[in-house]
Amino acid sequence: MRPGSVAIVGAGPGDPELITIKAMLRIQEADVILYDRLVNEELLNYAKIEALRIYCGKSPGHHSMPQETIERLMIQYAAEGHKVVRLKGGDPFVFGRGGEEALAVAEAGIPYEVIPGITSAIGAAASAGIPLTHRGLAASFAIVTGSRCHDHASPVRWDILAHSVDTIVVYMGVSQLSHIREQLLLHGKDITTPVALIENGTTSRQRTVTGTLGNIDKLAAAMKIANPALIIVGEVVKVREQLLSLEITTRSQIG
Ligand code: SAH
Repeated sequence: MRPGSVAIVGAGPGDPELITIKAMLRIQEADVILYDRLVNEELLNYAKIEALRIYCGKSPGHHSMPQETIERLMIQYAAEGHKVVRLKGGDPFVFGRGGEEALAVAEAGIPYEVIPGITSAIGAAASAGIPLTHRGLAASFAIVTGSRCHDHASPVRWDILAHSVDTIVVYMGVSQLSHIREQLLLHGKDITTPVALIENGTTSRQRTVTGTLGNIDKLAAAMKIANPALIIVGEVVKVREQLLSLEITTRSQIG
């Protein structure tokens, strides 16, 4: 029997047109596609009609398919000789457990490849008009997680981060927004530091709210910003206002 394979594929941040050509080719060839909640389901229309489509979605608080089951299915279908695509939102190696899946598949002796995708920080920042670096405003950015496991301390060193990086992008942080702003203020960030929240970035449902470390939690609560959303902290958020004030309409509108 011919050996199957696994492609761990980044589907991009939401807008289906932001997938790479290589990722699209793997979707078209796939016999089995295991896809996550954040993957735009329109992408599945490009797969063969007979391709098996398996939803592995995890919504916050609900683990609809355990990670071990996902890994077991990837290995099982590939071992049976199928071309398996593991389709994940954004980039598979950015808070996507793609590293664990690559290890599991490699340990099982299955040929695999990893195809990067545009991570949501890059995609959402672009569609909200916020450059993550900008001459004179930001020479560095960091991507961090805002989630705290079971009320344990955050794995992120906010004390160091507050002073060492110009732009901070927080994934999985909306429910922790108050804690995050408290940490940044505690460790010396100015209360006037600009902050943006981007919900459903790059999609037609994108919503963006901007404020400061002083008021962003109230603004976000008033707008009921919910997952998937990103928090961007830094002076670069001001560039969005400059772009908006110029009122030039482009193909990828600043939502
Ligand atoms: N691998 C993914 C991240 C998975 S973690 C990537 O590279 O983008 C899930 C978190 O990603 C969400 O909680 C949210 O913070 C962020 N996210 C994913 N898609 C998003 C989108 N379209 N808009 C805003 N945030 C998004």
